[in-house]
Amino acid sequence: MSVHELEVTPLPEVESEVAKARAAFDAGRTRTIAWRKATLRALRERVRTREADLLAALREDLGKPTFEAWATEIGFTIADIDQTCAALDSWAAPQRVATPMAFQPGASHLHYEPLGVVAVIAPWNYPMQLLLLPAIAAIAAGNAVVMKPSELAPSTDRVLGEIVRSLNDPAVTIVHGGVAETTELLKQRFDHIVYTGNSRVARVVMRAAAEHLTPVTLELGGKSPAIVSRNANIDIAAKRIAWGKFLNAGQTCIAPDYVLVESSVHDALVAKLNEQITAFYGTDPKQSTDYGRIVNEAHFHRLEKLLHCGTLAAGGDTDVDGRYISPTILTNITRDDPPMHEEIFGPVLPIIAIDDLDAAIEFVNEDEKPLALYVFSEDDAETENIIARSTSGGACINGTILHVSNPNLPFGGVGESGMGAYHGKFGFEALSHRRAVHSRSTKIDPPLLYPPYTKGKEKLMRKGLLMADPRDAARNIFAALRARLRH
Ligand code: NAD
Repeated sequence: MSVHELEVTPLPEVESEVAKARAAFDAGRTRTIAWRKATLRALRERVRTREADLLAALREDLGKPTFEAWATEIGFTIADIDQTCAALDSWAAPQRVATPMAFQPGASHLHYEPLGVVAVIAPWNYPMQLLLLPAIAAIAAGNAVVMKPSELAPSTDRVLGEIVRSLNDPAVTIVHGGVAETTELLKQRFDHIVYTGNSRVARVVMRAAAEHLTPVTLELGGKSPAIVSRNANIDIAAKRIAWGKFLNAGQTCIAPDYVLVESSVHDALVAKLNEQITAFYGTDPKQSTDYGRIVNEAHFHRLEKLLHCGTLAAGGDTDVDGRYISPTILTNITRDDPPMHEEIFGPVLPIIAIDDLDAAIEFVNEDEKPLALYVFSEDDAETENIIARSTSGGACINGTILHVSNPNLPFGGVGESGMGAYHGKFGFEALSHRRAVHSRSTKIDPPLLYPPYTKGKEKLMRKGLLMADPRDAARNIFAALRARLRH
């Protein structure tokens, strides 16, 4: 259990923090690229300075091994700041686009403008990066930001609060608490809300956002399948599934939730998964410094109930005081069994044997659209077929988790697993307004659009030339002339 008491922001202060952020945005300070970069660099410096405290807090809240805490939280955040600062000038620069012939002479540009005040509401499983990455995108886009970390990771919540307050900038602020404080926060007017968490609360967030017509990005979860073909490299599949599943003790939104495996390789896969668990965490994972813990007792008891389903093929050991559940594999599971009723979000991996890959695709498509989908096969046609006939927020072939670590790919769900996406430039764009700016010359004013509407103008319009990109229009005119000359 965490040694820290939960931080709670008094309700009137929730409103005043948002008001301060709004005033800072309205003053125009956050719009400059200089402020955005300076703020991101200051945040980076504070994260580095408090690295030891963050590592300790993540260990207290979730038993995170140092390597995992660095790779998935601290290092991930620092890399995001570095990539963002390096690319910001080009992301924020106006982009020129073509202007139709009828509007010449003129120029058209896309301007990326800040939206205003962005709220970021984060969950407990990656309590640092899921709070700071959306905030980094918000700052990069020139917004003020109000952050709300998860009350279920109280030690990390506390250190993050100290880090954010040490910036001493009303445009970058943080409030703490649970349902009451978040409810109060959601009464305020924002220009965008990024919520990461479960789909039940997402509906609460979206209803509150509707009150102010505030757009939302919802980063949710669900049951992400791993499909293993008889043509898979079973050694590699077992290693990468076990790694993705038992990272952070299974409390990862994109962890493989369950495995669908072709019957002929079912036993081989289960045996290799077993071997892999031992290779990663030894014969007693409780003693391993590389294995995490369940966030709290409520989640521990929820997961413990699943251990009695199907056949226990690995693990099943528990210790409520240490919030420990060993890496567990369940076989002989059907869709009707409790582990398949909701997202597992813990170190319990059901394996379901299927006749063939068509049956796997059907199985996946009968459920809600998942956040991630994993395919293991050495046969490209097979992989392409699965990707083409299914959907998910993101997908990884012959791997797990890593598709979200590439800043050049968007991270987000689809349908029940979420709406909108961020990471890298996608986050900058999601939290910017793309303003259309067309500027016209007054030196000449061609009569193409104005009355009187002559037959000649109508002919140009009917040929689609007025609205065409001038280069296309010129190409079309030359093609027509060439055709006429040939006859
Ligand atoms: P959580 O309980 O920490 O809740 C998330 C946030 O919602 C917290 O800040 C909490 O204070 C707030 N909240 C909770 N109840 C509320 C209410 N009634 N009204 C207003 N705010 C409320 O985290 P969780 O929801 O248990 O997170 C786990 C879920 O998040 C899983 O489904 C997981 O898959 C998903 N998740 C998704 C991503 C992603 O990026 N797509 C990442 C991590 C987790």
